[in-house]
Amino acid sequence: MSTNNGHTNGTPDIKWLEQLANQFFKTAPNDASSIPTYNIDKPASGVSPSAPDQGNVKDISHPQTSLPDPHFVDGQIPKSVAGSGGVASFDEQLQQALNSIQTFTPGSQLPYVPNFSEPAFYFLSGKQSLKDGNGLPANVRAPFDVEKVKADFPILAEKINGRNLIWLDNAATTQKPKLVIDRISYFYEHENSNIHRAAHELAARATDAYENARKKVQLFINAASPNEIVFVRGSTEAINLVAQSWGDEQLRPGDEIIVSHLEHHANIVPWQQLAAKKGLVLRVIPVDDDGQVLLDEYAKLLNAKTRLVSFTQVSNALGTVTPAKEIVSMAHAIGAKVLVDGAQAVSHLRVNVQELNCDWYVFSGHKVFGPTGIGVLFGKEALLNETQPWQGGGNMIKDVTFDKTVYQPAPGRFEAGTGNIADAVGLGAAIDYVTHIGIDLINEYEHYLLVYATNLLKQIKGLRLIGTAADKAGVLSFTLDGFKTEEVGAWLNKWGIAVRSGHHCAQPILRRFGVESTVRPSLALYNTCSDIDALVEALYKIRNKVY
Ligand code: PLP
Repeated sequence: MSTNNGHTNGTPDIKWLEQLANQFFKTAPNDASSIPTYNIDKPASGVSPSAPDQGNVKDISHPQTSLPDPHFVDGQIPKSVAGSGGVASFDEQLQQALNSIQTFTPGSQLPYVPNFSEPAFYFLSGKQSLKDGNGLPANVRAPFDVEKVKADFPILAEKINGRNLIWLDNAATTQKPKLVIDRISYFYEHENSNIHRAAHELAARATDAYENARKKVQLFINAASPNEIVFVRGSTEAINLVAQSWGDEQLRPGDEIIVSHLEHHANIVPWQQLAAKKGLVLRVIPVDDDGQVLLDEYAKLLNAKTRLVSFTQVSNALGTVTPAKEIVSMAHAIGAKVLVDGAQAVSHLRVNVQELNCDWYVFSGHKVFGPTGIGVLFGKEALLNETQPWQGGGNMIKDVTFDKTVYQPAPGRFEAGTGNIADAVGLGAAIDYVTHIGIDLINEYEHYLLVYATNLLKQIKGLRLIGTAADKAGVLSFTLDGFKTEEVGAWLNKWGIAVRSGHHCAQPILRRFGVESTVRPSLALYNTCSDIDALVEALYKIRNKVY
């Protein structure tokens, strides 16, 4: 029997599975009785033996994990596919846990929203009618029951210094819901294998799980094809990949790269390194005093030598949401390529790479409730296929002789060696979680929290908010007169409140505001107004030196 997997383009060509299955299925593959249970005498079919027990789709032409994975059947928000009776499926359990989100009554549980007498931000101007009892515009669904969401995250039950943990360090990394943790355990307990090149059952399960995760990412950011999704370690690796493959191949001495003043070091250093190596020029879009990029200044930087614009969609240090669509189309107008750093965007706002029309988009799994060590590079398919591979090795090749190597098309050509299979699957589960709650609902809820927190923080004397752009997401950076930022962070930790204090790997933008570091509480969907109240109360204590 051939062990060739028959892959032609980096995603599984399930014809070989079909052929194998046909050898062993005398009846149609959809017939549950034809699905083998574990049987060492029979080679793997590619259909998980546990699938029928879980009410799973048993169609071999729809590769899937052993867990119901209906996302990629037709791209719709899944309905439960669990069988009747027996243990509720993964999908059903999640659905049950989240049902209450849809039924929560606005205004009944969210705390009082203070009076916004002196609006400094557009979202405090009353435009969103936050004073009208429920804190959300009428066309938005009710906010969810955040306590139920919080309960999905086991670590949030931890006690820190005798208090409940309040996790406000989400821009650094997010916590993981139980279903992500369980999904990874399930992978290692039932599916673990290297992927692609084997005819045995576990290789088929692991390959299905991995490729399904890719499909989930595709749907999550609305890429045109799963071939546009490359799994990498994270945003940093994705940017380095583009710099060292496309950048190294395409850019010539004198070519110009534009970044914004807001960038994380991950979107500065790889370009600086490339510029030093190849004699390129790095230009920087300035920001205004609120921390928003100046589009007119950006326009002045664009010229015939501009080959690449690489910028963040949401600033990790200030929370600024940049006008990404405008930045992309202005760059395209002069023929430059565009990379969007979505590390801080994906957990807060809907991402649509086709609408954005960027050439590359990067994000990290751990910032969107998935595991560390897994991330995504989206690239337009044609562009990926015309770009030289970054690393060489197994998996990324079609054919190797001692004379030459023929590479796989994307995404395989950029996934040399054994990747982080289990965590890709975990990222798929995290995307399921976010999708089930609804990214727009999360966005609205967090907006409410940001308004609530901003208003309370502004009232603390001596506290300077840094980053006051009209369009912000998730981040509240500040300094407190008379206190070092690390001192504030350490005191907050004493009360179980986790925030980051430091330069946030974004030194240029902090220096733009005359500081070397800030205290940075950052929000996620499981934070509550009482988390903010605890933060504010602690800050008053620190300011008044009441420890
Ligand atoms: N870009 C931004 C805007 C970030 O906030 C971060 C991390 O904080 C990164 C890139 C780098 O992400 P990672 O460390 O997951 O590669």
